[in-house]
Amino acid sequence: MKFPAEPFRIKVVEPIKTTTREEREQLIKEAGYNIFLLPADSIFIDLLTDSGTSAMSDNQWAGLMLGDESYAGSKNYYHFESVVREIFGFKNVIPTHQGRVAENLLFSTVVKEGDVVPNNIHFDTTRANIEYHNATALNCVIDEGLEPDSLHPFKGNVDINKLEQAITTYGKEHIPLIMITITNNSGGGQPVSMENIKAVSNVAHKHGIPLFFDACRFAENCYFIKEREEGYADKSIMEIANELFSYGDGATMSAKKDGLVNIGGFLAMNDNVLAQKVTNMLILIEGFRTYGGLAGRDLEAIARGLKEVLNEDYLQFRIQQTRFLGEMLLEQDIPIIQPVGGHAVYIDAKRFLPHIPQREFPGQALVVELYKRAGIRAVEIGSLMFGTKNPKTGKEIYPELELVRLAIPRRVYTSMHMQYVSESLGEIFEDRNHIHGYAIEYEPEFLRHFTARLKPV
Ligand SMILES: *Cc1c(COP(=O)(O)O)cnc(C)c1O
Repeated sequence: MKFPAEPFRIKVVEPIKTTTREEREQLIKEAGYNIFLLPADSIFIDLLTDSGTSAMSDNQWAGLMLGDESYAGSKNYYHFESVVREIFGFKNVIPTHQGRVAENLLFSTVVKEGDVVPNNIHFDTTRANIEYHNATALNCVIDEGLEPDSLHPFKGNVDINKLEQAITTYGKEHIPLIMITITNNSGGGQPVSMENIKAVSNVAHKHGIPLFFDACRFAENCYFIKEREEGYADKSIMEIANELFSYGDGATMSAKKDGLVNIGGFLAMNDNVLAQKVTNMLILIEGFRTYGGLAGRDLEAIARGLKEVLNEDYLQFRIQQTRFLGEMLLEQDIPIIQPVGGHAVYIDAKRFLPHIPQREFPGQALVVELYKRAGIRAVEIGSLMFGTKNPKTGKEIYPELELVRLAIPRRVYTSMHMQYVSESLGEIFEDRNHIHGYAIEYEPEFLRHFTARLKPV
């Protein structure tokens, strides 16, 4: 594979600090071996998340200066609205300060106790916003989507049989909407095919159920369609996005991903009555209809970012950079989830560190080692994040997979940085037998991975 060259040049630089191994060992110890508790300026390469970490372009920064901070009717809102309509095609565009507020507004308006919302795989905040209403967030991804070694090109696809089954079992009156997450974040950033979206749309509309997209990484998904699905090679990303969204009735969006901004989101839909209800709620919790918890300048940056993200040179680089990191790891026999998704590379920590049992958090052990050795911050997605206790016996229940995610911020790091990450992981892999596990010293009741403190065993 060719080393992907950045389709941008650097005009402003942000220095990143190098630290010594001794300093990092001290810092991670003080942080209770939890990378969420590290000061960010002690990190050399930060692959914690691709959310809100994008670098804005000169065009977006210039747009900030054109911020119209009028309380109502800001010109930036109208620009933002017209760009969202042009790409997504939905009539009503409601800005929010990030994706989960769009989810909150949508679900608190349409979801009732006992309802069921199917999706390929619900993202954490989507699930939480549904379960908050005592409703069920149901995953219907194809079986291949859960198999680390399956090379299916669209591992984010919805299993149509599982979806039909859910409608039969729960009844369409208990399914206020169906969602599709593009790309499927919780399943490794895997794309959904146009054919599958069309099929889900047919099922949904046959039963009179609206279809909404969780559209955070829609442009990356459209690029995979162009690359992998027959009939799309000659279509532009805008054309693919237009077709894709034409099969749905609305979308929730975190602009912190494919909006190429550091904050922002929106909810869009065709249904005017629903939009009115949501707007009333928006005014209660976020702000007026034409700013939704954002500054005018933020809306301008999103409008410009949504256009830039459709650029094929950008998308080609983006997808190739992620894939390139994956391939460099595979060349060193480091076990990763395949095929590589859009925004991150996932290392299989169970196979990387087979001598560390799940109760000693192999994923976290690798995350700590990566920081100590190389100043790189990754995140564990395994028993520290998802492990639970059986409420009766108190016994730990472990998740199927122990993963370490290397999420790649957009337009932030160069291919040379990726090579540094790959080489550091290669060195750790050669030395892996010396790595030991961890035990929890403190954990809170919920979402323990954010604040837990650990100690080496
Ligand atoms: C990030 C994300 C969200 C939530 O968006 P925030 O802006 O973090 O609130 C929802 N769904 C998916 C798939 C995401 O990746």
